Amino acid sequence: MTVVLRVANLCVSYDHPRGAVRAVEDVSFSLRAGERFGLAGESGSGKSTIALALLRLIKPPGRIDSGSVWLDGANLSELSEDEMRRLRLASIALVPQGSMNALNPVLRIQEQIADALADHGAMPLAGALDANVRDLLGHVGLPADVARMYPHELSGGMKQRACIAIAICLRPRVIIADEPTSALDVVVQRQVMATLGRVQQELGAAVILVGHDMGLIAQFVDRLGIMYAGRLIEVAPIAEIIRAPRHPYTQMLIASLPSLRGKGMMQGIPGLAPLLRDLPPGCAFHPRCPRAAPRCREERPELREVADGVVVGCHFA
Ligand code: SF4
Repeated sequence: MTVVLRVANLCVSYDHPRGAVRAVEDVSFSLRAGERFGLAGESGSGKSTIALALLRLIKPPGRIDSGSVWLDGANLSELSEDEMRRLRLASIALVPQGSMNALNPVLRIQEQIADALADHGAMPLAGALDANVRDLLGHVGLPADVARMYPHELSGGMKQRACIAIAICLRPRVIIADEPTSALDVVVQRQVMATLGRVQQELGAAVILVGHDMGLIAQFVDRLGIMYAGRLIEVAPIAEIIRAPRHPYTQMLIASLPSLRGKGMMQGIPGLAPLLRDLPPGCAFHPRCPRAAPRCREERPELREVADGVVVGCHFA
């Protein structure tokens, strides 16, 4: 299948009074048309920074240090700000976390959709806007009268669907969903994910789902990348990663998932994620890793392919 998005050696830093902090280190992956790819990891592992970097939305004190992002053959780092602005939403769109903050509180939903269309020169002919918005809202399971409502009149799940409606209004090739169900209850989470999955299939778009809820992500994606301390440490098809996780961190993440058959206490991961400005030498996971060996404290493991479509960054995988 065609590769629609390719990320190569992406590095992102944030300036800090004590020196620059590398938030994303040498991240590479690609996404095929129609594929669902997940990026999972603890808070601060760099996954949301990657999402913003793909859209070139990293603002100072952050910056993209190096690497490239190719979307349908276009190198995004070579585009002007104007070209990039036109490409956002039209070709690569974001479903943000925290829909209440993402939606404009003083504009009705229809006006916000119209804004997005007008900004990209895609405003329907006079009289067609109402039908267009109705159609869009119907696609995400919202009734037509939501068009006339303000964000504060909608429930959390409805606001998130409105964000999905805006994200798909120009039929993008890639949708980045950054923790789209955070702060929603589990029933609404499932409904929002089902909506996202349905519109993604209708559009044939590829999706990058960013989050820390392994259970939710595992039910949605085809392939999963695990982030730790700014690096991708394992990438594999979802069935493979659930069946046979290779990296000790991935193994512990999966062991910490609740199971209907499981009895007794769930196992957490001991210790805390390291501070990015003070990473341990060698493998950044070694202070928490039950399999750490002397080599792990000195030598950083590189990502290497250990099976078909499975890459792992551990000396002993
Ligand atoms: Fe653990 Fe060593 Fe593998 Fe790092 S390289 S995950 S410390 S075994």
